[in-house]
Order: sequence, then structure tokens, then C-alpha cells
Amino acid sequence: MKAKIDIFIFADALGWNIASRRKFVEDLLPVRNRCETLLGYSSTCDPTILTGALPQDHGHFSFFVKAKENQSPFKSLRHLGFLPELVAGHHRVRNKVSKFIAARQGYTGYFQLYSVPFSKLPYLDYTEKKDIYEPGGINGGQRTIFEHWQESGKPWTRSNWRLSDPENIDHAKREIEKGDVELLYLFTARLDAAMHRYGTDHPQVDEAFDTFAKNLRSIADTAARHYQEVRLHLFSDHGMADVHQCSDLLPRWEKLGLKFGRDYTAVWDSTMARFWFADDSVRKTATTWLQEQKDGQVLTDEQLAGYGCLFPDRKFGELFYLLPSGSLFVPSFLNQRKVTAMHGYAPEHIDSAAAWMSSHETLPVQNLTQIFPVMRKAASS
Ligand SMILES: [Zn+2]
Repeated sequence: MKAKIDIFIFADALGWNIASRRKFVEDLLPVRNRCETLLGYSSTCDPTILTGALPQDHGHFSFFVKAKENQSPFKSLRHLGFLPELVAGHHRVRNKVSKFIAARQGYTGYFQLYSVPFSKLPYLDYTEKKDIYEPGGINGGQRTIFEHWQESGKPWTRSNWRLSDPENIDHAKREIEKGDVELLYLFTARLDAAMHRYGTDHPQVDEAFDTFAKNLRSIADTAARHYQEVRLHLFSDHGMADVHQCSDLLPRWEKLGLKFGRDYTAVWDSTMARFWFADDSVRKTATTWLQEQKDGQVLTDEQLAGYGCLFPDRKFGELFYLLPSGSLFVPSFLNQRKVTAMHGYAPEHIDSAAAWMSSHETLPVQNLTQIFPVMRKAASS
């Protein structure tokens, strides 16, 4: 019987507010607190969890950005812009095109075109081209926790994010039963999917939480049979807010008369729009107009710096416009219709906060950058 195992379980969108309200596995994981999240999405938060670095340093934030002059990997899709919206917008068509592009470009990371209009793609680039879980996958060059674990010489394993939760949970349990690994990282995403679809309070979501709790207990029990000491840690990247308001800022913006590709480039994420401008005059017109709109707010450089998202080259946008918690752009480049619950709001909002829960006292985890040191320490003790 091995002495000790540290099991790190990532649960996408298991927010502090939701977990507290549901008193989620309080007996199993009594050491628990709110964990501050970051501005952005899982694409921002997960690289921070894996490296301990801030977004402006690891270089990941959101998937789409303005492409450098004539360097868009989507240039050849220009003709698809003329497809009838009904065909171009169909998710099966978009999934096929996404797969085709990923294969042709040699992308190894998560790649999905979402609802980005084909006519806008030739002006855009994609930022997560490599698998962030593999060596060399982080844009800023930081090594992930898995490279540190590998170097420590301790046996370790992790999930494959391409597989389903049941498959990854089975894999984790099989590894625990073998009794070799001392470090394990389990990736789960079902809570996020269930809440996006049904909202934070719904029988289907209750069921997803119950199933997850059962799986956590089963993992803990299995580990207790094969290890003298089991240290279980559960954490998330961000929370989730029920959507109660839709913003039609995008169609209103398009009536302003500025031309995409000539005057400006923009990416409309579900809760945030990011802009690049051709010159100062456009910048002024756009900024003034955006500041007048009541839908959300233009983020200042001070706010972005405070969030660790003041990217030195403005790679992710010269101007960020953010909606308040519970509001959603419909349409956006991410979704064409309303989604029941969403994340990606001001990180200080209670519904945005992530959660840290553990069976044991650890180094303090008050924000996402502090998960990495706990995972590193587990490899050295
Ligand atoms: Zn999500």
C-alpha cells in the first residue's frame, strides 16, 4: 500500500456561490473558501490554473483575435461568407468546417468556430492552436504543472479533456486501483454543460450535482482502500450566473456605419466585445458611442491591469466592453440564441467566483494563481 496520493479535481463552472448554496460535499471537503477568478472564460482561467501565471503573462484569454495583416489562417474561407445564413449557421456545418480547419492547420488544441460569421473569419486569428495540457502548449512559454510533476519523478496521471466525464472518472479510478500514481489531475466539465443548458437551479442540474458528488465519494473510497493517506482537492475556474437579460448591442453597433475589416475589427464573445481600430478618429467615434450605451461598460486600462489582463501588445483588443452579470449578447460570435446561464463577467461579482475545497489544510488558495503552488508542493512532499 502506497503512503499518499494527492487527487486534484477540476470542475468547470463549480462556482463558490452555487457550491455554498448547495452545501456541496461539505463533509468530504471541509476546508473550503471562495477563490477569486479572472476576467474571461475557461480559455483564460485554465492556463492560469496549470501554470500559476496571469493572463497577460501566459498569453491566453479568448479564442479569437484580430489577425496580423494577411496572416489569418481563415483567409481561404472568404468564399464561405456568401453561404446562405441558414446553411452557414447550422452547427453541423460549422462542426465539419471546424474539424477540417483544425486538421489542415495542424491545431492540437480545442478548436471550434462557434458562430463566428464566415465573412468575418478572414480578419481573425485563433489563439489556442496547441494543446495547453501538452509541453509547449502555453503561448507565454511557461511550463505546466504536468511538466513539473514529470520532473519530480513521482508517478502521476491526468485526464484527457477530449473524453467525457464518465470516461475520465473511470480512468482515474482504474489508476487509483493500480495503486501506483501519487499525483492525479481529473478534468470534469459536465456541471458547466448542464448549467449552461438548464440554469443554476433545475432538476437536471440537481441530478448533475448528485452524480458528481457520488463520483467524488466513490473516488475517495477507492483511494482509501489503496493508499494510507488520501488528499482530495476540488476546484473550479469560475462560477455561473443565470441569464436574465439579452443585449442587442451587436446589431445596433453594425448600424453605426463603420466597416468591419476597414475601420475596425471586433470579436463578440458572449459577455464581452473586444475592438481594434484602424485610426484615432474611428477609435474616438466608437469609444464615445460605446460609452453612451447602457448595456455594459468600457473597461479602463486600470481595471484591465487589476485583472492581470493588460496585454502588452493589445493582442486581445484595444477596447474591452463588458456586460454586467446575468446579461448576454444575442447574437454574438459565440452564440446566436439565448443561453440559460453564462459566465465571463466582472470577476469580483459573487456569481463569478470560483471555489477551492480540500480534505486537508493546504497553502492558501484565495485566487486561481494559487492552485499551482499547491499542486507543485504535492510533488515535493
Ligand atoms: Zn462554460
